[in-house]
Amino acid sequence: MPLTCDVLIIGGGIAGLSLASVLSAEAKVVLAVAEPALAYHTSARSARQLIPSYGPPAVRELTDRTLELLHGIQDRTGLHFLTPRGFLLVGSGDAVQLRASEGMEFLTPAHARRLSPELRPGTFEAAGLDRRSFGSDADAMIEYHRSAAAANGAQVLTGSPVRSAAPAGSGWRVEAGQERIEARTVVNAAGAWADAVAAVFGAAPQGLVPYRRTAAIVDAARPLGAGQPMVAAADDTFYYRPEGSQVLVSPAEKVASAAVDARPRPGDVEAVVGLINRMTTMDIRSVARSWTGLRTEPADGHPVVGFDGAVDGFFWLAGQGGYGFQTSCGVAELAAGLLVGRGTGSCTGATVAAVSPLRARS
Ligand SMILES: Cc1cc2nc3c(=O)[nH]c(=O)nc-3n(C[C@H](O)[C@H](O)[C@H](O)COP(=O)(O)OP(=O)(O)OC[C@H]3O[C@@H](n4cnc5c(N)ncnc54)[C@H](O)[C@@H]3O)c2cc1C
Repeated sequence: MPLTCDVLIIGGGIAGLSLASVLSAEAKVVLAVAEPALAYHTSARSARQLIPSYGPPAVRELTDRTLELLHGIQDRTGLHFLTPRGFLLVGSGDAVQLRASEGMEFLTPAHARRLSPELRPGTFEAAGLDRRSFGSDADAMIEYHRSAAAANGAQVLTGSPVRSAAPAGSGWRVEAGQERIEARTVVNAAGAWADAVAAVFGAAPQGLVPYRRTAAIVDAARPLGAGQPMVAAADDTFYYRPEGSQVLVSPAEKVASAAVDARPRPGDVEAVVGLINRMTTMDIRSVARSWTGLRTEPADGHPVVGFDGAVDGFFWLAGQGGYGFQTSCGVAELAAGLLVGRGTGSCTGATVAAVSPLRARS
């Protein structure tokens, strides 16, 4: 006998799980994930920073809403997801002006060095600070959404890759690993594989491109204080932040990739360690571990959230790029509202239009 549900969500990263946790309060939800574990791909590989000033206006609106919702969940449950951690952008005057957006405060280099004394004098000429930024506990967010979905009766099928589907009645019959599922609506939250999953349902691709990004945990002779901000180069050549007694670093690369289980390339981490050692006095001496994930986005850099329009019962929840955690609850709220026909909630019309899958076709 096939499993039946209102909504089948394909993908068990932060996108699929955050939707499952809200939608399962109003609909019968099954979530299928290809891997044997939840959050195996990009959602296990992020830098865990939520930056309200980062991204285009639609992303910033969804980030503000996500922070509001996460604070609400913390207050209600006593769980802890968010730790205040500023975000400091450094570089040439032009580069900082170009990258800085609303909500960022401009600082002199001397002021920036009071917050981040490890920065060597003379290595940057301008700085911008986002004081509203937070470090996030990504594992706690994933676990909260998983358990909220389970408490609402959502069924999670791990090790269940979706490879074929056919229209059935007013919905879909889907094969996911050993399972057969009948669903009125299918949500495509398959991260780097979202365009490939769309093809299974006969939907046109959204031009989603996975881009590699690497990060590493390193040991430094003079590590950062716990309260120090995340520091990022305005020209996107590196970022770093405190990680307990160690430091998280990234070359902040954006290199197009196939949808694969990405791994660091030899030399990438060593090169960024060399650069950060020239920019700062931390004296990074060894690399404890490193990883690479895929940040997947369409050409305009906005997430893709909404009904496909051309293929009935097919809904997109993809293209979150480097914003998947910081927009997660806001995007899930918008998606759930559209899926149950309740409307777009607190989202402005401009944001709904900016993330609509139909924008690529207009
Ligand atoms: C180095 C790095 C740093 C980052 N830092 C931040 C940050 O600080 N803040 C932030 O907000 N974001 C950050 N991001 C981005 C963020 O991690 C992503 O936007 C987010 O994890 C994407 O989540 P997702 O659920 O869409 O994709 P994923 O986590 O990749 O999940 C995709 C899911 O789809 C499943 N799937 C694929 N194909 C199928 C199929 N056919 N059948 C069934 N299941 C399928 C996979 O198994 C997986 O469960 C960072 C990313 C990287 C790589």
